[in-house]
This record gives sequence, structure tokens and C-alpha cells, in this order.
Amino acid sequence: MLVERIKATGWNGCCPICDPCYTSVMTFENSQLTRLETLFERIDAKRDDIVDLTRELVRIPTLNPPGIHYLDACEFVRKRLANAGFQCTLLRAEDAIADSDRYPRWNLLARKDGSSPGDCVHFNSHIDVVQVGEGWSLDPFEGISRDGRIYGRGTCDMKGGLAASIVAAECFVQTYADFAGAIEISATADEESGGYGGVAWLAERGHFSPDRVQHVIIPEPLNKNRICLGHRGVWWAEIETRGKMAHGSMPFLGDCAIRHMGAVIAELEESLFPMLATKRTNMPVVPEGARQSTLNLNAIHGGEPVQEEDFTGFPASCVPDRCRMVLDRRFLAEESLDEVKSEVIDVLRRVGQRRPSFEFDINELYSVLPSMTGKSAPVVQAVDRGIRRVLGVRPEYVVSPGTYDQKHIDRIGRMKNCIAYGPGVLDLAHQPDEWIGIDDMLDSAKVMGHALADLLSCSTQSAERPT
Ligand SMILES: [Zn+2]
Repeated sequence: MLVERIKATGWNGCCPICDPCYTSVMTFENSQLTRLETLFERIDAKRDDIVDLTRELVRIPTLNPPGIHYLDACEFVRKRLANAGFQCTLLRAEDAIADSDRYPRWNLLARKDGSSPGDCVHFNSHIDVVQVGEGWSLDPFEGISRDGRIYGRGTCDMKGGLAASIVAAECFVQTYADFAGAIEISATADEESGGYGGVAWLAERGHFSPDRVQHVIIPEPLNKNRICLGHRGVWWAEIETRGKMAHGSMPFLGDCAIRHMGAVIAELEESLFPMLATKRTNMPVVPEGARQSTLNLNAIHGGEPVQEEDFTGFPASCVPDRCRMVLDRRFLAEESLDEVKSEVIDVLRRVGQRRPSFEFDINELYSVLPSMTGKSAPVVQAVDRGIRRVLGVRPEYVVSPGTYDQKHIDRIGRMKNCIAYGPGVLDLAHQPDEWIGIDDMLDSAKVMGHALADLLSCSTQSAERPT
């Protein structure tokens, strides 16, 4: 690094570090420090602005499902970034799942090029929020600011992170007007429902390909001192057991699909759940309880549903001929998807050996392989240095128990140099009275700004490009 910096001062290898070279190195070092201090002061001066920006974002209720007000949120961010000199493009994921004229999936892509060629650092934030739910003590869409916090649905997950990245990028551009490379900011749809109308759609169209974008930071709320390297894998499947209908007063004339499913659950309890508890991972998953394989029984339904919503009478007496259950299996880098599937098939086969009339179908709904960026990746190292410098602590490296849009950047975009880093307490996501700390937003904006200076500043930029 010292040699790089000496070279940047114009030293051409004429001598060991002689006095003139030493002086110019020190002058250069001091100018870099001064610039970083200026950057941090600029970010601190944006305290009121970052609060207003977050509140305005929270006031646009981008609830998903069904996915509303995406265009309003994208327009709001577009105006802001266009004022800061970014080229902005609004993109509707027209052929994506869930896109319709009533619920269009809008995305914003903003880019600012520097004064010379170099890497592109991309900040990706989702703009959708989950439903409000019960238990709020204040208005979830007012963006109330109180005691150093902003409250509201989406403050923590993840409009506060989006605001921090916008302020970081704006202040960086003002301070390092001669930066090399490019900065991109995207505000995308549908992360809460799989990301298919957002990042997946953009990645399929080349917006996250390695020849265009070299470093990706997703400001999800992982806590300002943590770098999230990736996530566990997911396999969702629906099991259906089948039986035979009969009158409920003579169940011996039918075959009860719910009892068959009961036998499946008993076998899962008996054999699969204990086995999953023994599968441990070396991935640094948080919380600690998720550092193993897990299985959730998401939903179960047996028998005929009452068709009419306003019907208030009793159901008819029938032996159910169908029962369905949705499984949510989260798996580890040490496991293969085939292994995960065959464990469940084995459970079903064992049940079949004991129940002669047992019949089942299994319908795979969705799968995502585990993803984990290496600690030596350039974006990881840049954020690591930023955390040490801004917060004065060693960063904690973590892996998320659930997936987020990194899966599409990795699998579709083939981009390995991607992390989640952003302000906010992870546990508050999707909760009533969700909030984000204002100091946390400013601190992580400084870490992001430091990472930009590290990756895009002409003089400190590594010649090595990520693979
Ligand atoms: Zn999120």
C-alpha cells in the first residue's frame, strides 16, 4: 500500500525513500486524511437531511404484497439523485411475476460516472415494506422522529439504509470530485416477496454483470459494525397426501388424508428434526440458533374449505381426500440441495411402508443455494477498513439466516463481490414500532463513504479487479 501511495505522488523508482520523496508521501497522506475528515464532517452536517429523507421515504407506504406506490418511491429517489448529478432510469419489470397494470413493479437505477475509468460501486436497496400487523403504538407511516430514532414501517428494513447510502454517495461526490470509476444506486421492488420484480429482473438484463458492476453493497439492517457475507440456502416444497371421501359418520368407508399427513408430521418429529439439529455449519450465521439446518412447517390445510366468505354455518361432514403442507427448509453451505430433498422423500417413503394406502405428491415451490462472499473480497476489505476507522472496532462477520437479494446478484449476475452492510437492528425488521437510530445511519453513511474513497479514489484504488 505504501508503494502504491508513493507511486501516486509521482515517485518513479529513482531512489529509496529520500527526503523529497518522503516529504511528498507525507503531504499526500495528509491530504488524504484531510479529505476523509471533510467527508465525515459533510455527513455529520446532513443530520437533519438524513432524518427528513428517511421520513419522506417512510411516508410512501410501499406495502408488499400487493406491491403499491413503487412508482411514487422511485420518483422521489429519482428527483433527489438527479439533483445530485446522477443519470436516472426508471424501469418497470413488465414481464415479471406479480407485475400488472394495477400493481406495476417499478425500479430505479441511478449512476454517476467519475472523472476517469475505474470500478463501479453499486448500492442496492429494496423499497418495499411488509404489512403493518398489530401492536403499533404510533402511526407506522408518519415517520415520527423522537429520542434519536425514526419510527415507522420500513425505517429499519430498509429505507434508513437507502437514505444512508444516498447521503454517503452525495457527500463522497462533493468531496472527491475527481473520483475514478462510477457509483450506482438502485431502489428496487419486491425483495420481501422474492425479488423477482426487482433485483432478479435487473440481473437478468445485465445490470449486475461483473463487466458493469464490480462491488455491491446492500444496506440491509445488519447493525453498523457487522458485515454480512451471505445467507443460508432455502428449499420450499408442498406435500400433498391423498385419501378417499366418505360421510364423516362412517370414516371407515373412506381414507382420511389428514391422518396420513399426521403420520408424516410424526415421522418428521421422530427422525428428521433430531437429525437436522445435529447438522452444524462453519458459516457465521446469526442468530446462533440458525447455525444449523432448520425446518419450518409453514402451512397446513386439509379437507374442503368453506367456499363463500360470508357463509356462517357449519361445514359438511366429510372424510377429507386431500391434505397439503408447505415446508420451509433452510440449509447450509455444507449440504447439497439433492441431499435436502432426498431426506424428505425418505421420510415419505418410510411412512408409506407403514400405511398401505398412503399416497403423496411433492411439489417443489422454490429453491436458493447458500451464498457466501469470501472475506478477502475487495468490497469486504473496504467496508472492514471503514468500520475500523469510523467506529474504532473490529467488524463482526455474519451470515443471514434468511435470504435477501444477494442471491440474485450471485446466481443470475455472477457477482461474487457482494455484501449486506447497513444501519439498523436486524431483530426490529418486520416488528411493530420498528425504528432506526439516527446516529447509526450517520455512522454507517461514513463507513459507506470511506469504502467509496477506498475503492474509487484515483490514488488509493487497487489495480486488482475482483473476479
Ligand atoms: Zn430487507
